[in-house]
Amino acid sequence: MEYEVVIGLEIHAELKTATKMFCGCKNEFGAKPNTLVCPVCLGMPGALPVMNMAAVEYAVRAGLAMNCKISSFSKMDRKNYFYPDLPKAYQISQYDLPLCTDGHVEIDVNGKYKRIGIERIHLEEDAGKLIHDAIDHGSLVDYNRCGVPLIEIVSRPDISSPEDARIFLETVKTILEYTGVSDCKMQEGSLRADVNLSVRRPGEPMGTRTEMKNINSLHAVQRAAQAEAKRQAAVIRSGGRVIQETRRWDDARKESFPLRSKEEAMDYRFMPEPDLVPLVIGQEWLEEIRRSIPELALSRVKRYIDDLGIPRYDAHLITQSRFLADMFETAAAACGNPKLVSNWIMTDILRRINEDKDFLAASGLDGQNLGRVMLLLDKGEITPNSAKEILDILAREGGDPDAITEKKGMRVQRDQNLIARAVEEVIAQNPKAAADYRAGKEKSFSFLMGKAMAALKGRADPVQVRELLLRRLKE
Ligand SMILES: [Zn+2]
Repeated sequence: MEYEVVIGLEIHAELKTATKMFCGCKNEFGAKPNTLVCPVCLGMPGALPVMNMAAVEYAVRAGLAMNCKISSFSKMDRKNYFYPDLPKAYQISQYDLPLCTDGHVEIDVNGKYKRIGIERIHLEEDAGKLIHDAIDHGSLVDYNRCGVPLIEIVSRPDISSPEDARIFLETVKTILEYTGVSDCKMQEGSLRADVNLSVRRPGEPMGTRTEMKNINSLHAVQRAAQAEAKRQAAVIRSGGRVIQETRRWDDARKESFPLRSKEEAMDYRFMPEPDLVPLVIGQEWLEEIRRSIPELALSRVKRYIDDLGIPRYDAHLITQSRFLADMFETAAAACGNPKLVSNWIMTDILRRINEDKDFLAASGLDGQNLGRVMLLLDKGEITPNSAKEILDILAREGGDPDAITEKKGMRVQRDQNLIARAVEEVIAQNPKAAADYRAGKEKSFSFLMGKAMAALKGRADPVQVRELLLRRLKE
């Protein structure tokens, strides 16, 4: 590798509060344009903002989950710029006294744990949305998003590859979802990332960086970083100089284009927001918020690998969603065989989720009853096929796994006489196959075995059936 890549991410996450940051308008995606607005978020003269404490709480929770120091005193500032989606012509943000500082997030790069520093997390409001495509001439503006609370998470330039950048963003996304701070719907723009990137020869000081803004998918971040590293290396290799600028990443064309030369902080004329009092976070409230943070995904991944013997890949997939991870843990405790439960989640349950991403929310299946189905299976009381059938029923209408097993007559048949009778009948009805097997044709055995299992409706212990069938054939 001729060049080292140095990457820092700025991640914007919309907070999942019920209302906006400084007014009582609903914080909702997808409403009819300009219906979720009021004088405050439209920036009417004389309208005064009032801080939504839920937004502060969510930001603190995100900060704690990312190991930040929480400032006991911070304030809001005005960031001035003119753009049609910003009716006040300034955004209320935080400048020199952010709410959270000096944290870190641990990421798992194929079993290698790396620590990425978090420089700061600050609170700010979102701007409106310009719509350019809907009409032939000019643009439309939708102010519904004006004043939606956001946090901006600024990482240190600790990320050393495009893949690590994607994994870091994925990890932050999971943290925000586990803590309930943001719904992180990247396709709806509630989570977006800016990629700051420079390259240098090993041992040299940091190169000039560029910034690519508003990238809204995990893989697009990796692709954008890859392409930009390549572009910068080519510029330097040909004797040129990388210019500090903001670029626009076009994920469809897989290339970026210059947007504007990078503005400096002073261009924004930051000034303290005079209409809001400073934020003072009391110790007691801080502790209360700390207690509301659940065990996060990476901690669970390590525990699943070390204590439960689950493969790393499976552990990551199961912990992608807190709901699924909780379900796994409840089921594993109810069944006592975590590996069996994880295998079934990896195949059967994830298949159902892939077919319908809202499957779990709408289904009657939960950790408790999944665990009891797995217990029946583990004890050999039902066959894998019956387990699938019971899961179908539970998903559709809920219910009690034991009761379903009884009602459907699914309990594995262990009655020696019954199985022996079925085996005898199968041999009597298929004399040619039996003779073939006795003459040394091994393949005929699977045929007879299939017939016997079918005669027992698939609800007998295959080992037992096999034994009896072999014994009869050898007689
Ligand atoms: Zn409003």
